[in-house]
Amino acid sequence: MNARPKKSFGQHFLHDSRYIDRIVSAMAPRATDFVLEIGPGEGALTLPLLTAAGKLTAIELDTDLIPALQVRAASVGELQIIHADVLKVDFTALAQRHGVDRLRIAGNLPYYISSPILFHCVEHFGAIADMHFMLQKEVVERMAAEPGSKVYGRLSVMLQLACRVEPLFTVPPEAFRPPPKVESAVVRLVPLAPQDRHDADAGDVYTVVKAAFAQRRKTLNNALKQLMDTEAIRRAGVEPGARAETLAPGDFVRLAKIYGGQ
Ligand code: SAM
Repeated sequence: MNARPKKSFGQHFLHDSRYIDRIVSAMAPRATDFVLEIGPGEGALTLPLLTAAGKLTAIELDTDLIPALQVRAASVGELQIIHADVLKVDFTALAQRHGVDRLRIAGNLPYYISSPILFHCVEHFGAIADMHFMLQKEVVERMAAEPGSKVYGRLSVMLQLACRVEPLFTVPPEAFRPPPKVESAVVRLVPLAPQDRHDADAGDVYTVVKAAFAQRRKTLNNALKQLMDTEAIRRAGVEPGARAETLAPGDFVRLAKIYGGQ
């Protein structure tokens, strides 16, 4: 097919079959799964995933790519393409409409909106069984980072409070057409079981984590000034003179509960 890749849509088409095979094996889709792909593009992942699962739903923003993909998929399996911006698709409603408990999501994500897509998934993680994503390697490092690391931040905390984050393997720029400027990596995200999830209000956690990391060098006392006083931070079992980057994800949950009056 070889459409001219569009920069504005973050199009870097995967062409190296070794990496395509590794992603498909890591995900190991089965006929009983409801597989949802974000950004199928020319179908590098779509067709092998469709071969394994028999049916697949994909969300693609670029209309120009859709007809050719539909033609290629016709002899492989049942492909439904939703022409939309993935950020506007309600995954929970999608699962309900199809009468499935949880979606298995895959995607070589458009890097220009990778963080918003991850936050969007976190909002719907109750409707998701797992996710296998290709992202910039640097983003995967941030997602999996531990407290004290230079790259530990808002993304690490928000994802780790919702999912198990498993970096799988790295992918070099030459595996794509055109090659991106950065190294890439594949990561598996598995939403935590209900008994392992925190019980704070999701909006309060978001507010506290955002404020805490807004200026990394500030102490929590300063960074959270608009939200809570020193005494309230202490009541959460957190040292007010500490910086956000030293706190474990669970510390933010306790701060959010105090902030929300829980
Ligand atoms: N899956 C293909 C592959 O591996 O070769 C294409 C991956 S390419 C990095 C990202 C894909 O996401 C492109 O097909 C692009 O058009 C699509 N895309 C970009 N922004 C999107 C959005 N907001 N919603 C849905 N798809 C989007």
